Amino acid sequence: MDTLKRIALVAHDRRKDDLIDWVRANARALAAHRLWSTGTTGRRILEQCPGLALTPVKSGPLGGDQQIGAKIAEGEIDMLIFFVDPLSPHPHEADVQALTRLSALYNVALALNRTTADFLVSSPFFAARYAAPTGGGDGEPGE
Ligand code: PGA
Repeated sequence: MDTLKRIALVAHDRRKDDLIDWVRANARALAAHRLWSTGTTGRRILEQCPGLALTPVKSGPLGGDQQIGAKIAEGEIDMLIFFVDPLSPHPHEADVQALTRLSALYNVALALNRTTADFLVSSPFFAARYAAPTGGGDGEPGE
């Protein structure tokens, strides 16, 4: 993992305010990296942080989760911040599971809640190069 991290930001509807609040609190640290987001999450983030270099893909239920998943499978994402809502059913549950499964498979740094996201953003590796000591899956460990 290079110094510049490639980070995907996703939040279910009832967690979007939390993610936007987290992004605002960490906008300075995030500005040093490259960001992607599912459509609605991304638009909401850009409304609050218009200076952030963030690329929105399609909305999650319309294929955006799969677009992010494809980027993970191509080795183009280092970190996924995915604030999930475990109390609501989602019509695109299969896509949600696929995204977390691919993150595990390709050794992507994954935060499903704010505490883990805080740990990631405050890690010394967030702004430094990181080489995984062992293989992380079928991806390219240590890249
Ligand atoms: P959204 O997608 O950002 O377009 O709402 C998030 C999700 O996968 O639910």
